[in-house]
Amino acid sequence: MPGTRTPSAPVVSEQMRECLLAAEVRGRRAALRGKVSRQVPALAAVSPARFAMAVATVDGTEAYIGEAGTGFSIQSLSKLFALCALLRHEPDVWTDVGWVPTEAGYGSVADLERNHWRPRNPFVNSGALVVTDRLLTHTGDAVGSTIAVVRAGDPDAEVHSDAQVARSEGESDHRNSAIAHVLAEHGRLVNDIDRVLPQYFAQCAITASVRTIARAALFLADRSGERTVLDHDSVRRVNAVLLTSGMYGAAGDIAYRIGLPAKSGIGGGVLAVMPGRGTVCVWSPPLDDDGNSAGGVAAIEEFARLAGWSVF
Ligand code: GLU
Repeated sequence: MPGTRTPSAPVVSEQMRECLLAAEVRGRRAALRGKVSRQVPALAAVSPARFAMAVATVDGTEAYIGEAGTGFSIQSLSKLFALCALLRHEPDVWTDVGWVPTEAGYGSVADLERNHWRPRNPFVNSGALVVTDRLLTHTGDAVGSTIAVVRAGDPDAEVHSDAQVARSEGESDHRNSAIAHVLAEHGRLVNDIDRVLPQYFAQCAITASVRTIARAALFLADRSGERTVLDHDSVRRVNAVLLTSGMYGAAGDIAYRIGLPAKSGIGGGVLAVMPGRGTVCVWSPPLDDDGNSAGGVAAIEEFARLAGWSVF
């Protein structure tokens, strides 16, 4: 990707690893209280015991535990990378996708209607569908452009869209299709629904490891200007919207408990960003009542406490 620095070999930090080991204990315990999502049938059989955690810092150190190199279904984490891919073409897209939080959940047709068919933010599904549609217009391949942003921080990483997961979501979905029809009715989509939805499902079905996601998101933490995936103003806005809207209805709780911009997905992934320091990503499939990875949130809370990471 043009303008992107090729990362040099990272140095493993033993001190960070100690923090991760303590975080894993808390995370695994909390995971016992969660439930693996059945929303995408192909993901319902993933073992609740899977666990991985990775941290990457802007000064080039890293640490991992568990299955840190194993790919998992990033689902809504892809909304973050698709948004960043689009912002490279359309830095002012915020006007159309919004930037305010909502209590209505990520798949609310009623909330979209209430807001006069303008999505509340790019992390609810209506906003994400508009992002995918625009990206498709700019690049002809929304999935490929999203994967390119993920790969930019980890060029040798195994990142692909899992066709079986995408098909499974496509065959069982009604809600995203309803949202897309409402958007189309009000002229909010440029491309045909039959093109946008398969791209969206394939984008959600991107598979990558926690190590790759932590590396990929480092540009959101970097203030040195070396990782130039996005301009500084866009990075600032993306982090702000992650803090207020990245964790479904639990953003306030996460800001209180952890104090970091974060994004999660129903595959059990959670990513958090500490501006100026680094990123941390967890994969633990069981979800809590808010739809966030129960183990992931607990593990990041413990890691952030031990590492002294908080924006406040
Ligand atoms: N593919 C899922 C959907 O669009 C992703 C949901 C999520 O991870 O929040 O409904």
